[in-house]
Formats: sequence, C-alpha cells, structure tokens
Amino acid sequence: FAPWADPHSKPFITFRNITKKFGDFTAVDNLTLDIYHREFFALLGASGCGKSTLLRMLAGFERPTAGEIILDGQDIADIPPYRRPVNMMFQSYALFPHMTVESNIAFGLRQDGMPKADIAARVAQMLKLVKLEQFAKRKPQQLSGGQRQRVALARSLAKQPKVLLLDEPLGALDKKLREETQFELMDLQQELGLTFVVVTHDQEEAMTMADRIAVMSHGKVVQVATPAEIYEAPNCRFVADFIGDVNIVEGKVTAVANGTVEIAGADFKVRTVSEVVPATGAAAAFAVRPEKLKVSRAAPADPGINASEGEIWDIGYLGDMTVLHVRLPSGQVVKTSMLNAQREVDNPIGYDEKVWVSFAETAGVVLRD
Ligand code: ATP
Repeated sequence: FAPWADPHSKPFITFRNITKKFGDFTAVDNLTLDIYHREFFALLGASGCGKSTLLRMLAGFERPTAGEIILDGQDIADIPPYRRPVNMMFQSYALFPHMTVESNIAFGLRQDGMPKADIAARVAQMLKLVKLEQFAKRKPQQLSGGQRQRVALARSLAKQPKVLLLDEPLGALDKKLREETQFELMDLQQELGLTFVVVTHDQEEAMTMADRIAVMSHGKVVQVATPAEIYEAPNCRFVADFIGDVNIVEGKVTAVANGTVEIAGADFKVRTVSEVVPATGAAAAFAVRPEKLKVSRAAPADPGINASEGEIWDIGYLGDMTVLHVRLPSGQVVKTSMLNAQREVDNPIGYDEKVWVSFAETAGVVLRD
C-alpha cells in the first residue's frame, strides 16, 4: 500500500497553499499536502505547531485565510461541517453525559432525520464494531476510559464518513491501553477501508499507526514520509531531533565522490553514502541513531574513519536494552543503545572503560540544514 509513490494515483485530500491566521498570528503557513484514499495519515508536531488547526479546517470548524482544500475532487470551502463526508473524534470525546451509549451513537443520525429502524440497525452495527454490545444502556460515567473512547469512535463512525479525523484520540488513556488501542484503530481502519487523519504529538503513536507522517513545525510541514523514512532518513535537524534519539556530528566536508561524502569532525572522519551532496569545504552535519553505533573493546579495521575512541560515561539498563553514553576526546558524549538479547552477557562494559565507537557507511545521513 503506497499510493503516494505511484504517479498515477490521485490524492483523496489536498491542502493547497493553505494559510490560517488568527489576527497577526500565522497558525498554518502556506501549507501544501496530499493524503490518499485509505491512508492512515498522521500529523505530528509539538504543541502549537498548527496540526489541530489544519484538522479543524478539513472538518470545517475553521475557515482558511487563504488556499484550497480539495476532498474527493471537490473544493470544500463552502460546504458546512455537517455536510462534509468527514467526521471528527475529539480527545475529550465530547460524549453527552445524560445519554446512554446507544443514544450517544444515534445522536447524529437522529439529527439527520434517519428513519428509526435504520438508526437502530446502524447503532447495533457500530456497537458490534467497537465491541460494546453489552454496554448499550449505560451512561458514559459508568464506563472505563477505554470504553468511552470506543463510544466516541462509534459515534464518529456512525454517519459513515469517508474520512475520520482523530484529534489526539488516545491522549486520555494510560500507556498500556493506548498501545492496545493503537492496534485496534489500525484494524478498524483496514476493515472499514476509510481514510484516517490523526493529530498527535506522540511520535511513537504516529510511528506505530500511520502509513505516512507529516512532521509539522511553526505551521509548516517539514517532512512527509513513511515512519521508516522519517526515522532512517530525517531530512533536517528538526526532524532528526524530534523523532527518537540522535547523535549529530558537526564538521567540514573534505571530499565528495560517487555518492559518498566525507566530513571531518572533531573526533573522527565520517565517510557516508549520501543523497545530500554538500560542497567541499562547507560546514555539514551528520546524524546517526544510537542503535547504529557499535561499542567494542577492539579497535576497528580503519580507526580514523567512522570510529572514535572514547570512554564509558553512563550506563542505563532499560530491561530490553542497555543505553551506553560514550564520551569522545573532544568532550562530545554520544548515545548508543544495544538490545540486551544481543549483548555479551559474560563480559559487560563498566564505567570509565576505554572503548571504540564505530558505525557503517550507511548508518546515518547528512542533514540538509
Ligand atoms: P496542541 O497539540 O497544543 O493542540 P497544535 O499543534 O494542535 O497544538 P493548534 O491548536 O493548531 O496547535 O494551534 C496553533 C497555534 O494557533 C497556537 O499557537 C494557538 O495558540 C493558535 N490558535 C489556535 N486557535 C486559535 C484561535 N481560535 N484564536 C487564536 N489563536 C489560535
């Protein structure tokens, strides 16, 4: 499933040069973005980056200051929220406390004037979908957080929208339930064949659920890519820092040849296969994830390249993995991580021990800025 990679497939939702201003403040800044039919798409960014505003414009709760939103081939600027084939599930769930679960789910259908028998059938179908059949007569306060979340989900799906918008859908759940619910949401999205657009500030949540992620900052999209691409090949320092942990080696480009770039850093020379080709002599930054760094006692074959001596600065045992911070001669401390299942158990590394840190030519990326 990768319609975005197919030049023949048409986007289902297009934001074209969308700007949203609140007074003098620009919340969304000339943003262009395509989302495809049946895609599970995540808008990811820190608080205030404009992701909810973007979602609310798609829902019709906010009007863009400039730009167009195209949904299923149609400009939706003048379509009121309730007529759009889009529904939103809020983090607060916004359930009516005095109504039963089934009345909450039926609410929008009644407002639309759907015949009673059809409503009953649809509500039954929705209750089954979210596995809440036995809870139909309960009120929201008689439910657990996870069950309330499912009622909200059922209610937002009852009108059979083509696109479901989810604003921090799992924010109110504890960690374990959140993880379970992530997989339930993915199953549901597959089963219904809908387009889901989720807003979250939680990178793990976005990585787990989404087909693609748009990383946002200050009202702009900084990178749109699959979770693996975002993690393995962040296109700039902001994304590299925002997603997961990263080590950044700063230096000057000393050679560029055949898709390989060499950067002289303070502690060692980086030689890396790179799509980004900076000019020789330019300042450049190289990013490498902690698990791509190998820590060993023996010096690697070519110790001047992609390798540095250092000493163990900190050791963090996390159960599944161990995080080792290694201090390089320049004073830079790099973070490395290693699965404990792959560790040499009989000979663990200790504090202050001298070690080598090394990595492969394909382990990291040169950042664009
Ligand atoms: P959060 O995760 O905290 O909701 P967000 O990335 O979703 O953050 P938005 O809610 O889209 O951010 O808000 C983007 C910016 O626009 C924020 O600085 C916010 O204060 C501002 N903003 C949002 N709605 C309004 C409004 N109605 N009037 C004025 N400013 C607003």
